[in-house]
Amino acid sequence: MTEPSVNFRDRIATSDDRGHRKWVYARLPKGRYTTRRHWVAMALILLFTVTPFIKVAGEPFILIDVINRHFILFGRVFWPQDTYLLGIAMLTFVIFIVLFTVVFGRMWCGWACPQTIFLEILFRRIETWIEGSPAKQQASNQKPKTSGWYIRRTFKIVVFTSIILIAVNIFLSYFIGTSNLLSAWKTGFTDYHRTFVAMIVLTAAGTFVYTWFREQACTILCPYGRLQGTLTDNDTIMVMYDYLRGEPRGKTKEGESQGGDCINCNKCVQVCPTGIDIRNGTQLECINCTACIDACDEVMAHIGKAGGLIRYTSEKEISSGAKRRFTGRMAFYTSVLAGLLIFLSILIMKRTEVETTILRTPGILFQRNENGSFSNLYNYKIVNKTRKDIDLSFKLLQPEGELRIIGNQPMVKNGASVEGVFFILLDSSIVVSHEMKIQIGLFDDDHQVELLESTFIGPMNKNMP
Ligand code: SF4
Ligand code: SF4
Repeated sequence: MTEPSVNFRDRIATSDDRGHRKWVYARLPKGRYTTRRHWVAMALILLFTVTPFIKVAGEPFILIDVINRHFILFGRVFWPQDTYLLGIAMLTFVIFIVLFTVVFGRMWCGWACPQTIFLEILFRRIETWIEGSPAKQQASNQKPKTSGWYIRRTFKIVVFTSIILIAVNIFLSYFIGTSNLLSAWKTGFTDYHRTFVAMIVLTAAGTFVYTWFREQACTILCPYGRLQGTLTDNDTIMVMYDYLRGEPRGKTKEGESQGGDCINCNKCVQVCPTGIDIRNGTQLECINCTACIDACDEVMAHIGKAGGLIRYTSEKEISSGAKRRFTGRMAFYTSVLAGLLIFLSILIMKRTEVETTILRTPGILFQRNENGSFSNLYNYKIVNKTRKDIDLSFKLLQPEGELRIIGNQPMVKNGASVEGVFFILLDSSIVVSHEMKIQIGLFDDDHQVELLESTFIGPMNKNMP
């Protein structure tokens, strides 16, 4: 019987005792979770590919135009003035990730992370197709290199790089739009050198990650992975080995079971893409990819035992048999998340395409005009959050009087803002109190874009000179 590893906490599974890298030759898993993960991966790759081409009312569904500082989400345009909305949306997303991790551990890593999808579902399979099974790859890498080895390796890198280049182009279209990307390819490097530099750098980085760096992105680089220890607890659902059922593992020299269901076949380790042994307990390197579940279920079926020796469960469920429960921590994060979602929804619903502020000019109370009327001076600022230039006009709605704009009525370019001043003139018969509420309409032709409210200051006593 092989003793459980005792040094797994001293160093990561993919380095030897001298710190040199141990290459992971993970066997490809088969089973119900692998099939489901393939379907999910295909759906996500399809979604990633088609989303930049989806338009809503002529606008892209999603565009993150960092250079021109505007964002389009679900067809709605957001400008730098909406940064607070994006801030709250990002905070909501972070809380969602935290809550999701508290409850479901690294399910994101195993099922939806682009690194896992591309490496485990796509590239590892292409690699097997080109270079043979993981065992064959290991054998040929340890032998002197032949011309066939170099041809296969070069072909693999060319195929990987071509796929990464396509993925990078799709990724870039989220930032510059599909039409700009097409123009870049038609026009060439001179006019779109920044796009091509980004494309080259990202493609080179992708090739480096998927041909060489691989699982180390998850085990030593990814900050989300490093956070797991602080987010998960004994109630978190993760891929776990049922040590009560599995131990003592292995067989005696006589071929008798040691008592536990684990026959120590090591199949769960052989399929692990991060090279760990799940039987050592929860480890930061585990990306919850479920490969070991499928491998072990296959073994259990083979020896006539029930599957689920390795399964999605929580430490508490294994150790005490207690059912999963909704913990205080989960309740706290859920209420914070619900509060943020409601707050964000209200802000988005109240957000207008044109945002105007009017303020009485500081330091000036009112003027009494020669005809006996009173006037107040106002400053205005209009932000146009649409993608078209608009001609606007102010009209005084309440009370009856005159709005006299200084200069021309405002014309605001798309995504820009203008500032100006206007007078409100009220006949003395209208000025019935020292401070009156007024309503001003902002119009685009005959369409009222905004209703604005402010105050009009008159004298304390109209009869005073
Ligand atoms: S695959 Fe199952 S039986 Fe085989 S070593 Fe892993 S846990 Fe034990
Ligand atoms: S231990 Fe299992 S779930 Fe975790 S990374 Fe390895 S194979 Fe995937």
